[in-house]
Amino acid sequence: MRKHIKDKKRIVIKIGSSSLTHPSTGDINYRKLEHLVRILSDLKNDGKEVVLVSSGAQAVGRKEIGLNKIPSEMPKKQALAAVGQAKLMMTYQRLFSEYSQTVAQILMTRYSIEKEESRNNTINTFNELLNMGVIPVVNENDTEATHEIEIGDNDHLSAYVVSLIKADLLIILSDIDGFYNDDPSTNENAKLFSLIEEVTDEHYSMGKSTSSSRHGTGGMNAKVDAARIVCDAGSEMILVNGKDLNIIYDVMDGKEVGTYFKATLKENFKLEDYL
Ligand code: ADP
Repeated sequence: MRKHIKDKKRIVIKIGSSSLTHPSTGDINYRKLEHLVRILSDLKNDGKEVVLVSSGAQAVGRKEIGLNKIPSEMPKKQALAAVGQAKLMMTYQRLFSEYSQTVAQILMTRYSIEKEESRNNTINTFNELLNMGVIPVVNENDTEATHEIEIGDNDHLSAYVVSLIKADLLIILSDIDGFYNDDPSTNENAKLFSLIEEVTDEHYSMGKSTSSSRHGTGGMNAKVDAARIVCDAGSEMILVNGKDLNIIYDVMDGKEVGTYFKATLKENFKLEDYL
């Protein structure tokens, strides 16, 4: 069923804050960041086109400014993200350069997708970067993202990117082994799905939108919705646990890890209908 995964060329990888930070402090886990960079560089060297959707800006900003926890006020959060995003990119740039890879920063809002001109510019930029062999590192533009134009979470953002650039595969690295028929943190009998042929309303009721993790904002429902967008667009998604990042190799080897959401390709798919 998953043998063909190894032939996928254009791959978007989304890593959540919970996979990039130490649970005890919320600070960035540099060992994991370095590991991620090495694996993505390896995928690049294997002939893949790689896009990284990375959270972590607020965590890095908070550390940089010296606050113990992320404040609740929006302007403060946005300020931390602005500080942290620059620092995070600097770190990615330094780490990727050790493997002779060049990265670019792409910051998006809902406008980048909704407005035709912005959408075309965004798509063209991605395509040029990938043609140049650059690894785009994507995040929401937190400075601009007011309520009306925010995407809200990086699960949706990564799904939109997949659809815009017609990527073949989205790998979501989370803090859980995959998608279960109920929240495993509250139901110990919850069963892991290895395969979802098509996302239905029933799946939405199984994914609890309130995230159990302190740092993620998406929750499982955001991932289910991301899967629906990706699969309807004709691509595929695999949700895996980012605890050990070597799992990315397992995904690419077609091993049965996590939950595999199969492509369903809806005729006349229009991303605007999913915003
Ligand atoms: P991340 O920060 O990695 O994006 P989230 O906290 O957004 O992760 O989402 C993962 C969490 O969703 C899990 O830790 C789990 O407790 C919760 N969850 C709720 N419903 C489900 C479900 N049906 N299957 C798996 N996890 C679920």
